[in-house]
Amino acid sequence: MRPLSTKLAAIAPSATIEITEKARRMQAAGTDVISLSIGEPDFPTPAHITEACIDALRRGETHYAPGKGIPELVKAVAEKIEQENRIPCTADQVIVGCGAKDSIYEACEAVLSPGDEAIILDPSWVSYEPCVQIAGGTAVHHPLNDETFQVDDSLLEKVTNKTRMIIINTPSNPSGAILSRESLQLVADICQDHDLIALSDEIYEKLIYGKTHLSIGSFQGMEERTITVNGFSKAYAMTGWRLGYAVSSKEIIGYMNKVQQHTISHPTTFAMYGGVAALKGPQICIEEMRAEFEKRRAFVLKKMEEMGLSYAPADGAFYAYVKVEGNDADIANKWLEKGHVAVTHGSAFNHPGWIRVSYAASMDRLEEAMRRISAFL
Ligand code: PLP
Repeated sequence: MRPLSTKLAAIAPSATIEITEKARRMQAAGTDVISLSIGEPDFPTPAHITEACIDALRRGETHYAPGKGIPELVKAVAEKIEQENRIPCTADQVIVGCGAKDSIYEACEAVLSPGDEAIILDPSWVSYEPCVQIAGGTAVHHPLNDETFQVDDSLLEKVTNKTRMIIINTPSNPSGAILSRESLQLVADICQDHDLIALSDEIYEKLIYGKTHLSIGSFQGMEERTITVNGFSKAYAMTGWRLGYAVSSKEIIGYMNKVQQHTISHPTTFAMYGGVAALKGPQICIEEMRAEFEKRRAFVLKKMEEMGLSYAPADGAFYAYVKVEGNDADIANKWLEKGHVAVTHGSAFNHPGWIRVSYAASMDRLEEAMRRISAFL
């Protein structure tokens, strides 16, 4: 048989999914593995959201829906983006997709032509580069400052006449760092000076600890050249619902809709009613989960300090990102095989020498995991 797609042959499988599956295989074989490798809240989806979806199913909302999402959800997203993120937004500037991941991929397809470059700030979430590559673009990596995890002037050195987009993620997976106003302004200035698009992944926006989240799309001159991506997975513990959205100029959203129309059509109709309940219903559920994450964060960071491990600013998301001596992939593998704790090595985020420990696990499991890592070290 002739070789399959050369484009896909060059793309690495998702390291986080691979590690999690390895941990699952060990669990299935009877080993008590504690999985701290996955980026998934361990809480159930709040009941009022699930009920809204069940009601929709019972009402018979089981047919095709408008391509960019049901009007109620599109309206709720536009209102949320205007009120919370301070980005002017009308319904025709919104597209609802199957998770933030889908919206990020569609954004890459909408913006990039073959050979165009997209700058990715490292450490970076595992799917940015593959999304850029599948869309035919080239990923250009730029390291953030290794202590502050902020942007500095050196970013400009990566801009060429092929650059089309800068991808930012705040709060960051894996580092947990939140980009400061100064960092965002630097990115905004570069985008405006060089006619670039900012793709801003704000999926962890609600999970922050003592800092403030800022959306680059609200910066002067950025409204039309920002694609703001967000979703329901992390804030509302809705990872399996596959629901996210993007907001941008009508033109960009129109291009993303071309991808959507010919691929997924739209997210599952009845799931979108759950999305409406999430955005329009009581928001206390977010604070309850955030407060619980904050307790676990304090515990895990204290343990890391006791173990003598230094960590990145853990101001957001639900990860402790710790510095290790030696080969991070080997260390993560040993922690899994010998310590029975699954974590993710920094190389998966294009950032060797670090390990990401998710604290999206119960306090009992975290206590046991820290005991095992400490014993192992
Ligand atoms: N962006 C970041 C930084 C993530 O960590 C994740 C999930 O782990 C996603 C996007 C994807 O989110 P969704 O479940 O909405 O596709």
